[in-house]
Amino acid sequence: MHQPLPPGLYIVATPIGNLGDMTSRAADVLCRVDRVLAEDKRVSAKLLAHVGATAPMTAYHDHSDEGLRQKLLAEMSVKAIALISDAGTPLISDPGYKLVRAAREAGLAVHTLPGPCAAIAALTLAGLPTDRFLFLGFLPAKAKARADAIAEVAAIRASLVLYESGPRLGESLDALATGLGTRDAAVIREISKLHEETVTGTLAELAERYRDAPPKGEIVIVIGPPPEREAASDAELDVALTKALESLSPSRAAADVAAALGIPKKRAYARALELGGRD
Ligand code: SAM
Repeated sequence: MHQPLPPGLYIVATPIGNLGDMTSRAADVLCRVDRVLAEDKRVSAKLLAHVGATAPMTAYHDHSDEGLRQKLLAEMSVKAIALISDAGTPLISDPGYKLVRAAREAGLAVHTLPGPCAAIAALTLAGLPTDRFLFLGFLPAKAKARADAIAEVAAIRASLVLYESGPRLGESLDALATGLGTRDAAVIREISKLHEETVTGTLAELAERYRDAPPKGEIVIVIGPPPEREAASDAELDVALTKALESLSPSRAAADVAAALGIPKKRAYARALELGGRD
């Protein structure tokens, strides 16, 4: 007999392919909650059977009506309710944030049980910088919206992580190669499953590879940050500063020039003062 849990919302991460990746704490909590909220009850029924959980399931999406959310919140104040998604970490390109926000606003306890997440697992496989990354979820399906979304992040000095499906992979890689230029990337497929695969190359090389050969399975694209710009020379700095100082104070000129040349403002400001500028 499982001990009941204190009331509240339990966000439970589940495997993204290999059932062995279920944490023992996640299995324990799923066996002890009074209800499980799931995206697709048929998908989650298999997982619950695997861990021996018997709690009733309710389908939940963030677009579920407000009445259902209020009913769940009322139940959560006296019972333990788990939220799971079809696979991986709930709320990451999956439903849940509205429920978490509402539970917090109602003063209810919210717990998370960390576990598998395809974006994080892909970052560990890609061999690309992981110190700064931006998760973009799925790109828009329409060409113009997709190009706009790519342009918006092109200059960000971080690795990019995107979810994609096999049929759209070639098209998306083409759009990414056009919008981001030459950048190292990895296409990571079927993480933790039998056919797990990581293919690396530039965006253009990967676009070429997958253009007419859409792969099967679930996919994450990881793209390395834009290449470092060469440090501006003293001569370049002087030309830019001299021009900027014609109309701006040294600190304003230094800020503008530093941003334009991608150099520290301190260096630009020191040189602006040497060039005779006065604040
Ligand atoms: N919440 C999930 C998570 O934590 O990763 C993601 C849900 S999102 C609706 C599903 C997408 O995640 C898939 O289309 C695919 O891009 C990616 N994904 C999920 N499982 C994967 C796996 N085993 N290998 C590669 N990508 C996966």
